[in-house]
Amino acid sequence: MQFDLPASPATPPPELDRSVAVIGAGAVGATAARDLARWGADVTLFERDAVGAGATGRAAGIVYDAFAEDLDAAVADRAIERFRTASGSGEFALTEQPYVWFAREGDDRRAEAIREQASRMRANGRSVEVLEPAAVADRWPALRTDDLAVVAVARTAGTADPEVYAAAMVESARADGAAVEVGSPASIETDPIGVRVGHSDRNRAREGGVRTFDAVLVAAGARTPTLLADAGVEIACAPYRVQALTVGVAEGNGDLPTFYDATGEYYARPNGTGLLAGDGVEPGAADPEDWTRDADAWFREELIGVLSERVDGVDTAATDSWAGLCTATPDRNPLVGSVAPGLVVATGFHGHGFMRAPAIGELAARELCGGDGVAAFDPTRFDGGEQIEIADGIVVDERG
Ligand SMILES: Cc1cc2nc3c(=O)[nH]c(=O)nc-3n(C[C@H](O)[C@H](O)[C@H](O)COP(=O)(O)OP(=O)(O)OC[C@H]3O[C@@H](n4cnc5c(N)ncnc54)[C@H](O)[C@@H]3O)c2cc1C
Repeated sequence: MQFDLPASPATPPPELDRSVAVIGAGAVGATAARDLARWGADVTLFERDAVGAGATGRAAGIVYDAFAEDLDAAVADRAIERFRTASGSGEFALTEQPYVWFAREGDDRRAEAIREQASRMRANGRSVEVLEPAAVADRWPALRTDDLAVVAVARTAGTADPEVYAAAMVESARADGAAVEVGSPASIETDPIGVRVGHSDRNRAREGGVRTFDAVLVAAGARTPTLLADAGVEIACAPYRVQALTVGVAEGNGDLPTFYDATGEYYARPNGTGLLAGDGVEPGAADPEDWTRDADAWFREELIGVLSERVDGVDTAATDSWAGLCTATPDRNPLVGSVAPGLVVATGFHGHGFMRAPAIGELAARELCGGDGVAAFDPTRFDGGEQIEIADGIVVDERG
């Protein structure tokens, strides 16, 4: 599938003589605002709460390019290239480290899926290998591998602080002339295209006059569907709740990769001297105005149980735990593109929005200024009434 972004993010889209509003200063909206400002568009970024206050500030910060589909791989390529460039700036850091994922003995379906995905990833030019569990044990002795059937490792991977990334993009946008309005809940007007900013009541800004723009990007995370619905635009996207926690690891056992246990459906990444781990997907759609920010006791107990079996020296108490909202679509591809004249949306990342944000934000910014979108991400591709399965995109299945 084609992902025909220009060779460099520095190449601007065709129509820059326009005023653009970006709603939401998460990783995606912040990237879009930064690109628009760098290209010379007149951009205003509206953030309801604080920069990174949505999913971005609650994310684990895992980044990799281990995607089997060629479009996903191309998006990840661009994103990692941009993370690396930003990492040199001094404000934001990408820590490069391998990403390992595995299936346990007896889980033949996922073991076969991992072998098949790894081979498609390699065909896509990804640096991915299938390793013997013993070789993994030699490299990371604190990771238990004796019950594993298949282990794959992706070398182009790392971790970063998503909130720091969003803040760095916002500062860069500001330095290039963007107006940044934090503490400004915005709602959308469609005729003419504009934004109303003011006191928020269930995400509806009821005060303040309409400010018109040539184009508006809605990158409001889990609030995107309701924000658009209030303006009469329906999208196929449902918010859902996920959970994460941090634990300590005994001294001497901290040399670990980022890993995903496909059989257990949880992930973990090095976090200082310990681990940051998560899954805890709550079945069913969440209400973005009414959800529990703290993690559930069952989640902490279950995840620390499986982590303790997998890694030597895990502390049995969480040092911190929390929940956040992700967004799902019927086909697990994101929604990035125009939903009405001058109105662009970017959401639906199935728990993989941070690692793709530099590329997705750029794509959305280009579409706001006359650039082409990507057909597979067209937010109007659904007929309506499709089922949306609540699942994190990490799930190892037929799609990869
Ligand atoms: C626990 C957890 C772990 C995760 N781990 C990873 C990971 O390791 N790797 C990965 O790639 N992804 C991960 N994700 C997913 C990732 O966090 C998201 O996909 C990504 O951050 C989405 O960014 P965004 O900019 O689209 O949305 P958000 O970060 O949600 O930003 C939306 C912004 O819009 C603002 N907003 C909302 N309504 C309005 C309004 N009316 N007016 C103005 N502003 C508004 C919000 O306040 C918010 O700041 C994780 C998510 C969670 C919850």
